[in-house]
Amino acid sequence: MAIASGSHIGIIGGGQLGRMLAMAAARIGYKTMILDPAEGSPAFEVADKHIVAKYDDPEALKQLAEACFVITYEFENVDVSAVEALESRLPCRPGSNALATSQDRLVEKTFFNDLGIETAPFKDISSRDDLVNALDEFGGKGILKTRRLGYDGKGQVRVNRDDKASIEEAVDLAENTSCILEGFVPFEREVSVIAARSPSGKIAIFDLAENIHKDGILFSSTIPAQATEATQNNARTIADKVLRSLEYVGILAIEFFLLEDGSLLVNEFAPRVHNSGHWTEAACTVSQFEQHIRAITDQPLGNPDRHSNCVMQNLLGDDVNQAPRILEMPQTMLHLYGKEEARDGRKMGHFTKISPIKAD
Ligand code: AMP
Repeated sequence: MAIASGSHIGIIGGGQLGRMLAMAAARIGYKTMILDPAEGSPAFEVADKHIVAKYDDPEALKQLAEACFVITYEFENVDVSAVEALESRLPCRPGSNALATSQDRLVEKTFFNDLGIETAPFKDISSRDDLVNALDEFGGKGILKTRRLGYDGKGQVRVNRDDKASIEEAVDLAENTSCILEGFVPFEREVSVIAARSPSGKIAIFDLAENIHKDGILFSSTIPAQATEATQNNARTIADKVLRSLEYVGILAIEFFLLEDGSLLVNEFAPRVHNSGHWTEAACTVSQFEQHIRAITDQPLGNPDRHSNCVMQNLLGDDVNQAPRILEMPQTMLHLYGKEEARDGRKMGHFTKISPIKAD
């Protein structure tokens, strides 16, 4: 049953994603209550209520559960046991199973392979011997990644059998933190898909985006992606399979490596709205943010078709100073996150330039 209009949605995390979720919620008649430990979090200024406390603070979570009809999150490293405790009181969407799967790269990759979905080859690594053997198996090149808490390329070492320094750096990381080594994928492009599932199992999938990363951080997304119809269908089939198998509710993002022969390897998934889906707010009638709110409140999902081609670009750090110039660009939507300090590499905003698709 749909959650009544005017009810509160609890959002764990008050960054730009929480902010855009709160704005979308307000537009379709819901109020939001945001939990974040940082005073002045970007989402606070657009939400009805907020709590300044740690994400796993039991008192704060109790307050959230009492005031809200559903809980969601803007990041995947929410404490799983805290969410499990909340789940016994009210719907948490997506559920703790999706969070637990996405928080550990070993569990995540095993989950995909068990569903018959291909990933880069990977091995659990805890010693120099593990690393050397896995490197031999993967042709001498790989990326060592921490199993937990890595994002935007953090907690990663590019390793080459012939580069001693890279091996030492990797051994140092692997001996101190649980890691996996992934074989190096000679991909042609990186693409991602954003998909939603409702509590009753309805699924809506946005078009494939082609992403460029710089220093491990998303720089731009271009839609349509340069990919054949068969590849696009494959991405949709994979998204559909993942959503169903997790009995997922809400928006999910899957990032892929696209190989020269058109095949896809999954890199990772995020159980939340995603930077590579920001284009949907300018090029579709229902954005990923509104779609997530619709899904978690059990309202009808919106049509994910796009009315325009587009390019979304992030504004990192000082890039935000380009805002006045962007406001002069035709057919361009600017979105700033209300962050005061433009630190290097910090996501300050984004803009999306659309090219409407002409109806015949
Ligand atoms: P991740 O944090 O796993 O999303 O990795 C950050 C970026 O590193 C990706 O967007 C890719 O550009 C690159 N990368 C990650 N894993 C691999 C891999 N196995 N082979 C080649 N490049 C990779």
